[in-house]
Amino acid sequence: MSAFKKALKLLFVSTPVGPLGTGLGGGVELSLYNIAKQLIRQGHQLQILAPQGSTWDDLPIAEISGNLQVIAQSQERNTPVNMPENPLLGNMWEYARQVQSEYDLIVNLAYDWLPFYLTPFFQTPIAHFVSMGSLSDALDFIIQQVAKQFPGTIGFYTPSQAATFPELTPPLYHLSSGIDLSLYEFCPQPKEQLVWLGRISPEKALEDAIATAQKTNLPLYILGKMQDEAYWEKIRQDYPNARAEYLGFLPTTEMQKVVRECKALLMTPRWVEAFGNVAIEALACGVPVISYARGGPAEIIRDGQTGFLVEPDSVQGLVDAVLSLDKINRYTCRQQAETEFSLEALGLRFEEWFLKILDTRG
Ligand code: UDP
Repeated sequence: MSAFKKALKLLFVSTPVGPLGTGLGGGVELSLYNIAKQLIRQGHQLQILAPQGSTWDDLPIAEISGNLQVIAQSQERNTPVNMPENPLLGNMWEYARQVQSEYDLIVNLAYDWLPFYLTPFFQTPIAHFVSMGSLSDALDFIIQQVAKQFPGTIGFYTPSQAATFPELTPPLYHLSSGIDLSLYEFCPQPKEQLVWLGRISPEKALEDAIATAQKTNLPLYILGKMQDEAYWEKIRQDYPNARAEYLGFLPTTEMQKVVRECKALLMTPRWVEAFGNVAIEALACGVPVISYARGGPAEIIRDGQTGFLVEPDSVQGLVDAVLSLDKINRYTCRQQAETEFSLEALGLRFEEWFLKILDTRG
């Protein structure tokens, strides 16, 4: 940190859908980890409130108990706000309320109604990092209210994600993402195999990747959190002959060993993916990304250079892209990750956003 910049005291409040390190929270877990790590490197002081059972020993985590929140993806748009008995989310924000005067800024990473609703009741300003596209009418409404009352406090991964929310008062911040590139090893020569990464859940449409593997007769490795067992069983029954192997949810170092040896990462989101951390993780290994042309991946992948963007929901489009992979230079993929998605750049973007919020508050 440069001498004239103030060290900020930051309180990060994590997602309440699962302990950090379990993968239940999806890509926002890795984002939180990377942002926190980098801001500490930049000289800021940081405390993270996270569910009990969080496993990251190298970050300052205060573990909070209580019942987990249900994930927004499994609910209808018009489902009213749900709160379990002894809610972890409520407990985290009660803790935040008590310690707020020790911090310059609170950073909310929960995709939940309560932290937005509580914002005007806190004396310490709150920055809200929204980790998914619009899924809930109640959440859309409260985000709208906060954007109006506290302009500039809402941050998104990408413009296409932000555009899924109705009429938000500007300025909106697009923070993108970043990774520790030193953890991902470049592999110039892949094996004849494909990979798919992510939570195993219907909005990720894993079945399209399996269909692609079957049609191209290439093996597909699947890595990620098993979120919907029944969905997974159904896919296995629908594609009995696909050469698809599920390897579980692996830590980054182990995961990248599998990813880097693959010809391509397939991304098949049925929804507007807010970003897609797995895309930049693959690029960092020199692995091209083939994705449906919607949401975050469409902003990341350089079509024809670092992967292919295909017509959404077209398995034939994915197959054609796999057959064109020889056109992609794997060095260009790694290079894109280095120039656009470094941890250093990510830390500076967040720092700038936080300083703007504090400036506005005076
Ligand atoms: N991931 C992992 N190990 C695995 C498979 C996936 O750590 O074996 C992580 C991956 O690094 C990424 C997250 O799971 O951060 C998936 O997030 P993504 O942004 O792709 O989608 P989301 O789950 O947020 O919708």
